[in-house]
Amino acid sequence: MGKLFSLTIVVLAFISFSFFNQKEEVKTATDSGPKAVKTSIKADPDSLGNAQFFPVIKPEKYDNIFRNNTGYFSDGFDFPVGKPNGDNYFKALDFGQRMHLGEDWNGMGGGNTDLGDPVYTAASGLVVYADEVCCGWGNTVRIIHFLPYHSEYKYVETVYSHLHNVYVEPGDLISRGEKIGSIGNAKGRYSAHLHFEMRDFVNMSMGPGYSEDKFGYLHPTDFINLNRPE
Ligand SMILES: [Zn+2]
Repeated sequence: MGKLFSLTIVVLAFISFSFFNQKEEVKTATDSGPKAVKTSIKADPDSLGNAQFFPVIKPEKYDNIFRNNTGYFSDGFDFPVGKPNGDNYFKALDFGQRMHLGEDWNGMGGGNTDLGDPVYTAASGLVVYADEVCCGWGNTVRIIHFLPYHSEYKYVETVYSHLHNVYVEPGDLISRGEKIGSIGNAKGRYSAHLHFEMRDFVNMSMGPGYSEDKFGYLHPTDFINLNRPE
């Protein structure tokens, strides 16, 4: 009986050792789309199918992923439309206006003239979410940015919502200015625009979009202007 017990312990120990030692391989760009580098770090299985639950990739892995892919450290921020400076776009609704937690970016032409226009990642980083979110958000991409040299923030997150097309998926490592999707209207709910958020408290739930409580949110334009690339 004692022997059987010890054997069981040994087997269990071996299984957990193998489990925790699975390597986080980074695939090369060959099987990826445009330029995105795919990591093998995919969504946690228990959060799949629950679009509103974040993070899809465990935050404990961020450090490792970036340390192994130093080319994707953030080297500064650009505007997510009209790159790099937001040319030919304007903010129809600013951060803080009517308790808005993000910025609504529209093409100068107004209406749906910007439907399908490219949306770019504001900075290099790791895509942690790319899927449809219910209740008005529509297709949404969330990207974590690693700022090892920043005086205040180690990580910040950018959120891009109401997208028409999405060109990235969770686990993609992407470079500043890379196309991640296109401007949409959340299936006709709004006239087309990009809802863009920046957060210093990363991995929060999708949130309400509007609130008096701005905890965890950054003013996107102010942050970008203070953190332009060299
Ligand atoms: Zn908005």
